[in-house]
Amino acid sequence: MNEWNIQSRAHACQACGQTFSDQQPYHTLLFDLRQQVQRVDLCEPCWKGQQGETASDRKGFISHWQGIYEAPPPAPPEAIQKENAESLLRKIVESGDGKYAAVSYILAVMLERKRLLKVKEQFQRDGQRIFVYEQPKTGDLFTIPDPGLQLDQLEEVQRDVAALLEHGLAPPLPTTPPSDVAVGAQAEVPSAPPQEKVAPVPAGAEPEPLVG
Ligand SMILES: [Zn+2]
Repeated sequence: MNEWNIQSRAHACQACGQTFSDQQPYHTLLFDLRQQVQRVDLCEPCWKGQQGETASDRKGFISHWQGIYEAPPPAPPEAIQKENAESLLRKIVESGDGKYAAVSYILAVMLERKRLLKVKEQFQRDGQRIFVYEQPKTGDLFTIPDPGLQLDQLEEVQRDVAALLEHGLAPPLPTTPPSDVAVGAQAEVPSAPPQEKVAPVPAGAEPEPLVG
């Protein structure tokens, strides 16, 4: 079960396929399908038709709201993508890595306080509170479970958040050469004499070749 997810606002009605135009009202339906929270974006006519009428009877129905579609602005060329709380949260949620559960929750709370995200809905699943946040500009939805942090865990999580904001998510480790060669297979490898002192090499000077 993937409790975390980000669901972008659709750019077209998911019932009739009509592309949304800028400033067009649309309707979002939210369903808890247990494997995930599903959003369905509909144009006004489809909402007023059968899709909307039967929505609240459908299994897992959580919520409905109306939004105004905003056409995404063209991405500025060569924009420097600085890591911020929102981009970090996106990466974490997309990674699906459970070790960031507490961090993602704290980031969402931070973003909500800055009014960069708003709580659109919250519901319980198996005794756990799950928040659905909306990024008001893009209409993207972030589904974030409440990790039920204890007060004495907060400080550590906040430290993790600060470190991640500063350094970003660790990139996947490059394939490292095997560091521990099987013992016994290296009888031929001469052991280098321990270097007692490394004399500073003048700039431009050729380092002395090691004599084997
Ligand atoms: Zn439609």
